[in-house]
Amino acid sequence: MARVPDLYGLLGVNREATDDEIKRAYRKLARELHPDVNGDPEVQRRFKEITAAYDTLKDPGKRRRYDLFGAAGAPGQAPDFFNMGDMGDLFDVFFGGGMGGAGRRRSRRRSRTERGPDLQVLLTLSFEEAVFGVAKDVDVDTLEQCTRCGGTGCEPGTHPSRCTGCGGSGEMQNVSRSMFGTVMTARPCTVCDGTGEEIAAPCRQCRGDGRVQGLRSVHVEVPAGVENGMELRVLSAGANGRAGGGAGDLYVALSVQPHPVFERKGQDLVCALQVAMTQAALGADLEIPTIDGEPEHVHLDPGVESGTVLRLRGHGVPHLGRRGRGDLYVTVQVETPKPKTKEERELLERLAQLRGERPTKGEGLAGKLRKLLQ
Ligand SMILES: [Zn+2]
Ligand SMILES: [Zn+2]
Repeated sequence: MARVPDLYGLLGVNREATDDEIKRAYRKLARELHPDVNGDPEVQRRFKEITAAYDTLKDPGKRRRYDLFGAAGAPGQAPDFFNMGDMGDLFDVFFGGGMGGAGRRRSRRRSRTERGPDLQVLLTLSFEEAVFGVAKDVDVDTLEQCTRCGGTGCEPGTHPSRCTGCGGSGEMQNVSRSMFGTVMTARPCTVCDGTGEEIAAPCRQCRGDGRVQGLRSVHVEVPAGVENGMELRVLSAGANGRAGGGAGDLYVALSVQPHPVFERKGQDLVCALQVAMTQAALGADLEIPTIDGEPEHVHLDPGVESGTVLRLRGHGVPHLGRRGRGDLYVTVQVETPKPKTKEERELLERLAQLRGERPTKGEGLAGKLRKLLQ
């Protein structure tokens, strides 16, 4: 362990020296101490020292870290600064990198460019559109890239500058001393939000964000077989990212309207078929509506019961993302007729008498029961 060297003192400048003053001081010393000018080992050691000092002080981030560290670290608290092999490790331990060679540099800086947020829209589909698929253009309230700055957030002709709050490191560091030694804590810089960059001249149209509110028409391909409540993801159709970052995704929530005839049960469709009593009794050839538009012909045998289910293969919903379709199930519902005319009534009574189904006069439910008990 050795003392923390006075880097300013080595270059012969004070702590308030400007970048220019530091540069000039270093150049002046380097000319005198350069190994090409003087081969003396002691002179060469000093040349290495001033070069290391200049390397630290010319970089605003490193300089700030050094200022913080130097202020807190008492003599004897830090390893030798100029043990070059350890220097990177020292800063890795205390500062999370940044002081070592380029190869070991680890930046905690957040990128100012940021992926845009995902968006969600609701898309209402007719029953048929969900079954067969449809292509639709959906209006999305989104953040579009600013046309004035092209997404950079800077006024045209200007560029982001190094953050004055953190010197470009993206971090604000705090050094405290405890019984265990010097403790370094770091948090994202509040001035630049951890990006290390500041926009001196924010774009007037987007106020530095790089994006503006806009309405975008997004083309959505709805595949056949989707269901109510499903969500489609359209890659990169969400809001644009900050400072030219990539766009988020768009999630399209599907709301499918009911159908007046068909109901969906998974990949199958179900519907009811109203059949007159006489059709059910005598048998009939009927047309059944299908979701495909063209009706299907079905034959009902005489005496078909109400509640009978007919299956029409392949007239259901296409499987989502693969071949094949479900079926259509048709439930027969026999309508009970209420005689409208005297003639109809007489015919039904005659039929009932022939089949022994109509109770004779004076015989009601009580009479029927009596017969059964005999
Ligand atoms: Zn702009
Ligand atoms: Zn900052």
